Amino acid sequence: MNKNTPVTDLKGIGPKTADLFHARGVYTAGDLLTYYPVHYEAFDPPVRPADALPGQTVTLALTISGRPVRAGSGARRIVHIKAAGEGTGVRLTWFNMPYIGNSLPVGSRHYFRGRLGRTGAGLLYMEQPAVYTPAAYAGIQGTMQPRYSLTKGLKNNQVRKAVAQVLEEYAYPADYIPEEDRALLGLTGLRQAYRQIHFPMNMKELAEARRRLIFDEFFEFILSVRRQKEAGEELVNTRPMEDRPEVEAFAERLPFALTEGQRQAWREIRRDLTGPRLMNRLLQGDVGSGKTILAFLALYLCAANGRQGALMAPTEVLAGQHMKSLTELIEQYDLPLHPVLLTGSLTAARRRDIYERIRLGMADIIIGTHALIQDAVEYKDLGLVITDEQHRFGVRQRENLAGRGDSIGVLVMSATPIPRTLAIILYGDLQVSELRELPAGRLPIKNLAMPQAGRGKALRFILGQIAAGRQAYIICPAVEEGMMEELENVRDYTEKLRGALPAGIRIASLHGRMRPAEKDAVMEAFAAREADILVSTTVVEVGINVPNATVMMVENAERFGLSQLHQLRGRVGRGKEQSYCIFLYAGDGEKPERLQVLEKNNDGFKIAEEDLKLRGPGDIFGTRQSGEMGFVMADIYHDAGVMKEAAAYVDSVLARDPDFALTLTKSVDFRSI
Ligand code: ADP
Ligand code: MG
Repeated sequence: MNKNTPVTDLKGIGPKTADLFHARGVYTAGDLLTYYPVHYEAFDPPVRPADALPGQTVTLALTISGRPVRAGSGARRIVHIKAAGEGTGVRLTWFNMPYIGNSLPVGSRHYFRGRLGRTGAGLLYMEQPAVYTPAAYAGIQGTMQPRYSLTKGLKNNQVRKAVAQVLEEYAYPADYIPEEDRALLGLTGLRQAYRQIHFPMNMKELAEARRRLIFDEFFEFILSVRRQKEAGEELVNTRPMEDRPEVEAFAERLPFALTEGQRQAWREIRRDLTGPRLMNRLLQGDVGSGKTILAFLALYLCAANGRQGALMAPTEVLAGQHMKSLTELIEQYDLPLHPVLLTGSLTAARRRDIYERIRLGMADIIIGTHALIQDAVEYKDLGLVITDEQHRFGVRQRENLAGRGDSIGVLVMSATPIPRTLAIILYGDLQVSELRELPAGRLPIKNLAMPQAGRGKALRFILGQIAAGRQAYIICPAVEEGMMEELENVRDYTEKLRGALPAGIRIASLHGRMRPAEKDAVMEAFAAREADILVSTTVVEVGINVPNATVMMVENAERFGLSQLHQLRGRVGRGKEQSYCIFLYAGDGEKPERLQVLEKNNDGFKIAEEDLKLRGPGDIFGTRQSGEMGFVMADIYHDAGVMKEAAAYVDSVLARDPDFALTLTKSVDFRSI
């Protein structure tokens, strides 16, 4: 069994189950290895109800103190049973298990595992708990069981078994880090790391596995950046462009004056394009800081030099938006530019036509999704590639495109600022431009963090905004129930909201499990004001620009990373009206420090620095918020230490063996290269 073995070759996976795996993006044994659990259930020792925290999943040792009380009928049959542990009463409730009481006589003692709740009146309860005899529980106590992200019809146990089989039968390639080096770096072997990430015996094993897999993600990323140089490609601009007066004149005639930061960044970009070193630049700036116009200026300069420029966006919606804005500018200013839009959803005939225009040089600006870098696209003379919101794409660009032209400059634009120190470790000699101010006249977003108990008040506020003609986003961390038990999920939440709000309020929902076309349709409908509230997972992060949306409410805000929340918040505050962001957090404890930072601050650069400071080694998981960079598990803030070690190791390996990068990719079966 290897990386490419299809899941249908595994025991117990027929075509039907295979479809369910495919729906989660799992096609092969290799996909399963890296289908990391989203969380682990730790079977901790049972606790006394008085010591347990409501809202958490716990195991309680209880003695049954009352007879079963039945309620409901038909499909909603309910059984309540009273129990107590050391003087504290807990009400246990089961749905559709009318006979459960038969095995729980008064006076018997069992362990009950589930999410502990507390009613407004202070009574503890647990719904649908799992029941264990003390002896049975002893058998699993102390272990950690993986919980995978699922889809309707796919059971956790099916994934678990499939992963276990792969771990057993996989023919692992040689570990690319020799044992001596692993010992020095304190890293587990790759094979062991995979076992431990899926089936850790304890927290220590989990932490070890995570560290190894994160090291690999950074190692691969950093190596691919360094490789460009090691492969002998000097970053020399063999065809510097010429400054063009019409581009400067256009920059002066824009409907707005560029901010000082935009002017500075434009000078830097121009210097790269016209200078002796090939452009390899990261342009960082908060959402709304005005990066797009700089991309357009650079594309114009490139076209005015008779070459082609490409602008690549992560989604079709975003690409379409860029095309629309550029076309408007071209018409308004009568610019001599010929852009085309290239996405995956074109008809075959249209695509052929666009390919032809690109090949013949009739198109000078090519805007699109990653369809831009398909092998079939032949550029006449590509001189510049700009990526919007996608670091990793940007970095790998030159490699992909190197054979398609010479001296291609790369500009990566990002709304997730990385502290300069980290950017330099990751990217080596990458140049950085920063837009630290927003254009004048923007109203700063007003922020408020409060416990979930304040939700009713928040919803009334949202209704007020809707009555004034505005729209709102509500962000939930999960898609459907059971993915992570305690979290608000988009499906149920949308239902609950429909029940709770007046009938006239139009509610749409959006999540990452939808097909791209479905997602786009929902976002476009929201932009067209066909819905008042959009309930969504974080997929809305790189979504559409809806200036009329003035409120965002984030559920379970404690679950998101600081930078991620800031990024989400950037979806509001884009219009003329005052915007608001409400962060609801679970539990009745103190306001999390992260949320306090967000309340006080709207500056993404400050937030990135705080993020770096606030992460401690104590928190094993991080929040996987570096998705934009293509990391699966690594979090550049949380794992900055591992990142530095990986960077140092890349340098030491390349010093010993300058061809390492080349031999490595040929001989080793790297996950995501
Ligand atoms: P982002 O950096 O998030 O990509 P955009 O480039 O989309 O931001 O800019 C957000 C909005 O601000 C756009 O409508 C753009 O036209 C406008 N804008 C950009 N620069 C300025 C400026 N200097 N003054 C006023 N508005 C600006
Ligand atoms: Mg943008």
